[in-house]
Amino acid sequence: MATSTLHIDLDALAANWQALDAKSSAAVETAAVVKANGYGLGAAQVAKRLLHAGVKTFFVAAAEEGIAVRDAVGPVPVIGVFGGHMKGDTDIIRTHRLTPMLNSIDQITRHFERLEGHPFGIQLDSGMNRLGLEAPEWNAVRAKVLARGPWLVMSHLACADAPNHPMNARQLANFCTMTDGIAVRRALSATGGILLGPDYHFDLVRPGIGLYGGLPYEDARPVVRLSCPVIQTREVEQGETVGYSNTWTAESPAWIATVSAGYADGITRAISNSAVLFAGDVPCPLVGRVSMDLITVDISHLREAPEQLDLLCAHQTVDDIAEIGATIGYEILTSLGQRFKRVYKHTIDGGAAK
Ligand SMILES: *Cc1c(COP(=O)(O)O)cnc(C)c1O
Repeated sequence: MATSTLHIDLDALAANWQALDAKSSAAVETAAVVKANGYGLGAAQVAKRLLHAGVKTFFVAAAEEGIAVRDAVGPVPVIGVFGGHMKGDTDIIRTHRLTPMLNSIDQITRHFERLEGHPFGIQLDSGMNRLGLEAPEWNAVRAKVLARGPWLVMSHLACADAPNHPMNARQLANFCTMTDGIAVRRALSATGGILLGPDYHFDLVRPGIGLYGGLPYEDARPVVRLSCPVIQTREVEQGETVGYSNTWTAESPAWIATVSAGYADGITRAISNSAVLFAGDVPCPLVGRVSMDLITVDISHLREAPEQLDLLCAHQTVDDIAEIGATIGYEILTSLGQRFKRVYKHTIDGGAAK
């Protein structure tokens, strides 16, 4: 059976990085977050293209993810690990020269005992209560940690996608209280924080979702297109139903296309009977339930059966699908299945598209 093709525009990704980079002053470094296999798009391909665009620092969530990124980008870039230095990570961190963002006293102790002299960063909790040292812990170890020259001190915002949320200013104030005056580079912001303005930029920013074309970066260029091959078309009569549990009934004679993609590919069942797929520029309603491998589409208004229908494209972004499915673009992207054929588009230095 034909599978869908996920087209990944690495040039659009690089353009999104450049545009986000331009939002902070030249003194601020713009890193790139490539965790979760590059938000589902392929960490190696994504990291290589971003390296070429000028990225010098990458972040992953877990040490294991750093292996593929190190292979892709070579020895020079810094690869930070948000999860820090866990038991069992020591060999990976050493061998692949990763920089753990230590987030507890336990991790700090482990790192100093096992990898004396190996670069590290520190993660502080400024209010999100997810990862990082709390203020009293930080105060207790601060002098000892600073004496060892951390590469970066960072924290993370909980509500940066809501610019007017009072939590942003509160976390900013907490982060400043914890770090003002230290002689170490500081970082607070992901995509949302970059858009909050220069007070939130410090020395380094860490965009993820905006690179991949997602909100809250509204001006992002779309990076993915998902093209689903039409396997079969059929005519149904008025009153006939389509798909599991008969959730859609033809109100008049209809022409139905069945395409190859389903919830096993990360296409959430929550978009059953509500999203559309595109035949070029023409929207065609998704009818019936999304099943494991198949989606049914009403193409009654088309003259010819299309060879494929696009679920994600310039007309319907990951955030549009997320809204219909009551989730967020991040989840749609990182759920996109391994069964899809991934086709990468990139032109480097004006060279031929590959
Ligand atoms: C995921 C993550 C990022 C990137 O966030 P986006 O919202 O995707 O830009 C940055 N910093 C930390 C700590 C993260 O966990």
